[in-house]
Amino acid sequence: MITLYLVIPCYNEEQVLPETSKRLKEKMQSLMKKTKITDRSRVVFVDDGSKDQTWQLIEQLHRTDSLFSGVKLSRNRGHQNALLAGLHCVRGKADAVISMDADLQDDINAIDGFLEKYQEGCEVVYGVRSSRKKDTFFKKFTAEGFYRMMKFMGAEVVFNHADYRLLSSRALEGLFEFKEVNLFLRGIVPMVGYQSGEVYYERHERFAGESKYPLKKMLALAFEGITSLSIKPIRFIIGLGILMFGVSIVMLIYFLVQHFFGHTVSGWTSLIVSIWGIGGLQMLSIGVIGEYIGKVYLETKERPRFIVDEFLHEEA
Ligand code: UDP
Ligand code: MG
Repeated sequence: MITLYLVIPCYNEEQVLPETSKRLKEKMQSLMKKTKITDRSRVVFVDDGSKDQTWQLIEQLHRTDSLFSGVKLSRNRGHQNALLAGLHCVRGKADAVISMDADLQDDINAIDGFLEKYQEGCEVVYGVRSSRKKDTFFKKFTAEGFYRMMKFMGAEVVFNHADYRLLSSRALEGLFEFKEVNLFLRGIVPMVGYQSGEVYYERHERFAGESKYPLKKMLALAFEGITSLSIKPIRFIIGLGILMFGVSIVMLIYFLVQHFFGHTVSGWTSLIVSIWGIGGLQMLSIGVIGEYIGKVYLETKERPRFIVDEFLHEEA
């Protein structure tokens, strides 16, 4: 039997928490009955600086049932950091930790599969969406584009796997060996290594409330992921520079030839086009390089990724 902890980041989730906690309680109790997990297992909600009644709800859950624990962050730090804060808090307490979203879009019945894989010796189990039938076309399109772009830019991630995964205590310790501040979990977890497995499940609709991951946040996450995992964009710039150099030599020859034939005035268009073209490319390149310098700057400061305000937890 293993002690299982569920870690669930919540940001303004008052609409879904009552239902989520009910369903998770049922699930955990049935697992306990089947003697798959111990009664020391817990459900840990991480309040990511919500502005609504989320924390009050978590407190209440904890008071009425010791199955529920709560972590309150000092302010909103985003899904990745909230998840990490939760993982930090449960460090050393569980044999295995499963992270999932508060809206239960990820099928909780996949937990059985996760545990099976864990029993087979997997230290990391990825939950992979088998289809996105229930997502809107826009969400599906942007989300799958996200994975393709990440891969293209040199950030290896498991396709259609979000943050629904099981980590063994050993894999969790491995994860904490990564000290970087700009932590992108989906990219770092595969780097931890160990034997891993995948469990497929159907993704449901959000049963209440709305998505806290609009396109803007998703783009920010993709950008964060790419720049914190790979230096491929810088390589692209070098390639681009070489290409531009080649083009300029061709241009030089072309204009010299034109000059000797006496058609000099006609060069205006190509001149203005290349000034703008090269200017734009330079701006872009400086921007990308600046982004990495900014990252180095932030890393050297070693700012805390999150600050825990309160941790409600009952050891059994
Ligand atoms: N979330 C969070 N902090 C944030 C934004 C989101 O902790 O700043 C949590 C949110 O409560 C949910 C999970 O991250 O549990 C995923 O968010 P959501 O379901 O809105 O994203 P989607 O499924 O639409 O991609
Ligand atoms: Mg969701």
